[in-house]
Amino acid sequence: MSEVKSPVATGGCQCGAVRYALYVAPENSHVCHCRMCQRATGGVFAALAGAPKSEFAWTAGEPGVFKSSNLASRHYCRDCGTPLSFTYDLPKARFYVTIGSLDDPNAAPIIIQYGVESKLDWVKFCEDVPSEVTGNDPQAAEFLATMQSNQE
Ligand SMILES: [Zn+2]
Ligand SMILES: [Zn+2]
Repeated sequence: MSEVKSPVATGGCQCGAVRYALYVAPENSHVCHCRMCQRATGGVFAALAGAPKSEFAWTAGEPGVFKSSNLASRHYCRDCGTPLSFTYDLPKARFYVTIGSLDDPNAAPIIIQYGVESKLDWVKFCEDVPSEVTGNDPQAAEFLATMQSNQE
């Protein structure tokens, strides 16, 4: 039971108060262009890389959490405001961290772009990376149909 795992990737916020570890190599690295991700990061898209929830841990500090909808949570540092995570509130969903908060963001090159229906006209970024419209996949569409946004 008390197997000691070694982190494969680590990261944290800008001030260093909150730190985390992934016990697998970052999975499904992507950017999301949706309006929720734009607002949540204050950027023009979110860049996220994930791990199964069992392979993720906070290792220092206690992040704040905002439920951006009834389906999802986003963590951030209460002290410096760095956006740190995105996850759907499902046991099997991956826990995603912001690629920019990884200690080695270079180790998480993106493989897909989501939310391209909200991609800004002037964002020319990784044009050769495959992209997907939100809710394209029928299973995801069914889940997302129950979403109630908490965004202004
Ligand atoms: Zn901080
Ligand atoms: Zn998004």
